[in-house]
Amino acid sequence: MTVQRKLRFAAFVLCFTGLFVGGLSFAHTVFIASWNEKQLRQLTSDTLARTELAIDSAVMKMSDVIVNRGTTCASVDRMAMTKAFYGSSIMKNMRLETKSGACWSYEERNEALEQSIATARHNRTKSPGYSLFSLRFPGWKGLGVRWQYGSEENIIEVLATSGLLFAILPVELRNSALMDLSLPDGTSFASYSPERKWNTDDIELTTFEEKSVHYPIGISLKVDSAALAHWNQSLSPQTIAIVAALGLGFGVLAARGMFRSTSILDELDIALTNGEIKPYFQPIFDLESRKLLGFEMLARWIKPDGAVIPPLAFIPLAESNGRIDRLTTELLKQAGAQLGELLQTQSHLKLSFNVTPDQYLAEGFVDNLAAQATRFRLPLRSLVVEVTERQVIADKDKAASVTEKLIDAGMRVAIDDAGTGHNGLSAIHALGANYLKIDKFFVDGITLDRKSSELVEMLAALAEKFGMTVVAEGVETEEQIAALLQLGIREGQGYVYSRPVPATTILAMAAKEAAAREQADGRGSLLKSA
Ligand code: C2E
Ligand code: CA
Ligand code: CA
Repeated sequence: MTVQRKLRFAAFVLCFTGLFVGGLSFAHTVFIASWNEKQLRQLTSDTLARTELAIDSAVMKMSDVIVNRGTTCASVDRMAMTKAFYGSSIMKNMRLETKSGACWSYEERNEALEQSIATARHNRTKSPGYSLFSLRFPGWKGLGVRWQYGSEENIIEVLATSGLLFAILPVELRNSALMDLSLPDGTSFASYSPERKWNTDDIELTTFEEKSVHYPIGISLKVDSAALAHWNQSLSPQTIAIVAALGLGFGVLAARGMFRSTSILDELDIALTNGEIKPYFQPIFDLESRKLLGFEMLARWIKPDGAVIPPLAFIPLAESNGRIDRLTTELLKQAGAQLGELLQTQSHLKLSFNVTPDQYLAEGFVDNLAAQATRFRLPLRSLVVEVTERQVIADKDKAASVTEKLIDAGMRVAIDDAGTGHNGLSAIHALGANYLKIDKFFVDGITLDRKSSELVEMLAALAEKFGMTVVAEGVETEEQIAALLQLGIREGQGYVYSRPVPATTILAMAAKEAAAREQADGRGSLLKSA
């Protein structure tokens, strides 16, 4: 840059920083407000996904009872029903209604529930024969799931759904929010309201709503707009310092933007060509033995000045601009050069990598991938393709056939972020994957509340039933490891073991383990010969 250009640049920086800091309070308020709204929208969506999961699980349990166990009110069949939801704190009771009479799983009568069922309005689901209805008696609210499996035969499961809303709101808003899960007939089957008396008549409320595409259920969250406006707004000296630094950063960025001749997309292209997009690898380990089972490849953009840009800052850009295939190829190429030999010699290690649902469904995906793997010296048996459940998988039949082709070619498939999307348990099952990766969102709650661990338990049970191995993601504490092991989950990934690291660190880890193995083997053979 010439001196004149430098001066102009500095002037722009000052000008933009001034603008930023001048609008500081306004920008801060607006930014936090929109961040808050985003958080609550996400929370609404996640809670709906949790509820769908609970219904999915109830549906599975009911069909299991009818298809594989008894269908009469004989005590052995009632025991089978009781067993189906033993230990669950969401599933409360099961009722069988047949031509020759009706019974509860473990009670003779339950008048309050029977009354509620008799007057229930049924909301049909997309699956024939299934309906949902709200149940209530003084002091209690829940959801009934009914499957009419014969002309006069029904099985009903009673879910205590209010627990799904327990402790889900941020502490600061618990006194100023209402949450409700409801059916299309307008009845509510779970709700949360503050313990204190709260009159909402003269209060302006901000509402977040979402409807399930999977079941006829909807969620609504109403928050006192004033409380929402205050949430996260207080400014500590540290925050002021951070915002001032941000202001300067913004100034530099904005000035750079004025001076830049290339667009961010051009930058990404250049980065791809120059090999600035690099693979990091996060170990996947055996939760009990703590042995290395493999690693997940995660993209990082390492700028020439050493700054590391996380994938969520550029993957969506690559995805929406047709660069994602190139990015995946570049990463696999580097992974092959760095870890191909390790994977060839240590066949128990797996290399997981991420693809988007669009990539997964693209024409020729499996053939191209197999050809690339061979070219980059990556053994097919080591490869695990992770496809996320967070986005809707548009063509589920096609997806299932892609999975089959990948498995036929010797690779494996993992469903990523299981339980966070709205694809439903049946779609998760239909995909036919080898692994089910449980999202950090569920793992976080596992040691905090019973409901979260129950949802993880449901996913684990589903996985076991369909022969999938569960991998828990985002494991950060020893307590979580203990809880996961209790649920029969064996594989994990998370900061408690290692953050994503460059290939050299993985090579060192694998070498250390190989040496320990050799030593143990040596000791074993010495013992044998002694
Ligand atoms: P993901 O596939 O769910 O990857 C796991 C993310 O969780 C990673 O974030 C990882 O660093 C983070 N993580 C793992 N353990 C912990 C933990 O104990 N605590 C916390 N707080 N976080 C943990 P990362 O690397 O930022 O990647 C974000 C997402 O970007 C990935 O989520 C994946 O969906 C996407 N992604 C990354 N690389 C690629 C890629 O090459 N292609 C595609 N299509 N997507 C990619
Ligand atoms: Ca992943
Ligand atoms: Ca994930």
